[in-house]
Amino acid sequence: MERTVNGTAAHPTRWWTRLDDGRVRCDVCPRACALHEGQRGLCFVRAREGGAIVLTTYGRSSGFCVDPIEKKPLAHFLPGTPVLSFGTAGCNLACRFCQNWDISKSRETDTLADAATPEAIAEAAVRTGCRSVAFTYNDPVIFLEYAVDVAAACRARGIRSVAVTAGYVEPGPRDELFGAIDAANVDLKAFTDDFYHRVCAGRLGPVLETIEHVANATGVWLELTTLLIPGLNDGDAELDAMTRWVVEHAGPDVPMHLTAFHPDWRMRDRPPTPPATLARARAIAVGNGVRYAYTGNVHDPEGQTTRCHRCGATLIGRDGYELGAWGLVDGRCAACGERCPGVFEDLPGGWGSRRLPVRIGAP
Ligand code: SF4
Repeated sequence: MERTVNGTAAHPTRWWTRLDDGRVRCDVCPRACALHEGQRGLCFVRAREGGAIVLTTYGRSSGFCVDPIEKKPLAHFLPGTPVLSFGTAGCNLACRFCQNWDISKSRETDTLADAATPEAIAEAAVRTGCRSVAFTYNDPVIFLEYAVDVAAACRARGIRSVAVTAGYVEPGPRDELFGAIDAANVDLKAFTDDFYHRVCAGRLGPVLETIEHVANATGVWLELTTLLIPGLNDGDAELDAMTRWVVEHAGPDVPMHLTAFHPDWRMRDRPPTPPATLARARAIAVGNGVRYAYTGNVHDPEGQTTRCHRCGATLIGRDGYELGAWGLVDGRCAACGERCPGVFEDLPGGWGSRRLPVRIGAP
């Protein structure tokens, strides 16, 4: 925990408790940081000021970009459409393999280059032809109040919102966040508490609770992502247990993205994930009843194509972020009529794989 920087913007929050010993505990995530005046939590962006927990990154972003929705990744949510994506700074996990460490580990407020109100973000999404806004690059759990306000402003303009999150959150804030959004990709980083503890400085249990809750008790469209790291979370037994759990507790219709690791941040001693590992993981998932298992971060059109789980017809062809064949009519297989779970329109979007940086507010 560190001292706050004078002059930092401080937005009020409500998920905290005053403790008997004089400290104030943040109740947003299982870390339960107990803070003295002037201290910041482990996520760095929630701090104690004036006897309360405040959010120091409200209204400020590390930058906006229009991305393909497939990049979040979401395969069954408005395929082919552009999504206005942004993050803030900080994170409540400390994954050694972090792929966005320049943002998640940021201690510099100048990382937050682009200021934007929720209304300005919704307006920018409309202006750029986006169908949704994504809270991504770092975890919206830690900028909950900003994410919820942005989602509300977007809803008012007919724009949906998407959270890309590790799901490391307490039940109350969880319900507030997932009550405001339309789709989520939750990281299931591994299926052992040991991995979460040693590699991410967290715990597995709260993540499983989040996944089970979102799948069964909300209207949020849910997909899962697991980054497979050679020798750490890619063993047959672990993948077998993980995918069995997903089918049993979240259901066979929740898509799983099994993606390739590239050496980054504090984990440069591991090789990239071999394509054969992704194929093996996908086969285990499918064998255990996961109806939509995809490979990611590799060139693998077959492993990224959506097929009807009943008749095997191609529903959505993919090559990376580019869509190919389209075999859906009213969200059903054009060949056999079986429903494909997800959020679909009559035709796919045509955004392709483009990435377009967008400037919204003054720094
Ligand atoms: S959200 Fe941040 S301050 Fe709150 S408990 Fe989690 S790490 Fe600590």
